[in-house]
Amino acid sequence: MGCDAVAAEVHPYLDDQLEPDRVGRIQEHLRGCAACTQLYERQRAMNSVIRQHAHYYTAPKHLARSIRSNLRTLAEAERPRRRNAWGWFASGAAFASAATLAVSLSLLQPGPRGGGLEQELIAAHVRSLMANHLTDVASSDQHTVKPWFSGKLDMSPPVTDLTAEGYPLVGGRLDYLDQRAVVALVYRHNQHPINLFVWPGDAAATPLLARQGYNLVRWSQGGMTFAAVSDLNPADLQDFQKLIARSAP
Ligand SMILES: [Zn+2]
Repeated sequence: MGCDAVAAEVHPYLDDQLEPDRVGRIQEHLRGCAACTQLYERQRAMNSVIRQHAHYYTAPKHLARSIRSNLRTLAEAERPRRRNAWGWFASGAAFASAATLAVSLSLLQPGPRGGGLEQELIAAHVRSLMANHLTDVASSDQHTVKPWFSGKLDMSPPVTDLTAEGYPLVGGRLDYLDQRAVVALVYRHNQHPINLFVWPGDAAATPLLARQGYNLVRWSQGGMTFAAVSDLNPADLQDFQKLIARSAP
């Protein structure tokens, strides 16, 4: 069984919808393939986030079925074009199962949901992965990414490429948090995407916290608030935080 086949079945596998022999073959592949294991772990974490929001909204069965079939068609169309591991991951995210996607509609709505800012930050991170919308401007060149924001926001975010340090800049996008537009810079470490949200104003720092399979750290400096969210391990995320703190004003 190849990696593509595993990627295509990771959701039904997570949802216990596969025949036993299929399950056995996927498990056998996962034992020998770090990349697919990572994909599986990430999807499992994402599902658990979604499940915790499941009480907000449950899709009727017919809607779930139609979303699932649309997603399959989309995924089929996308797969052959995506060959590298990063694209392959993004395509895996597009396989989000119908129930997952339908339930996650509640995550797409900004505004307080009882979990405060941290919850919103994690939701924004998950949303960027699920909607396959990590970047509006995709570039590892800080001189391309930084000007892209000018005129869109009344702030100029510090943008630094950290490729040499092992955290290449992937791009940026506008996001929406706490009822305002914010900068989202996207970095990557190994295959893990990191969202770095930046907005004006000081706020009390949040030491590194783990929630729903993601790690999050928030701090202020130079009149701006920074929040990094990723499924990276805590040590690497703190490493990333130090690098950003050192490079920002
Ligand atoms: Zn594999």
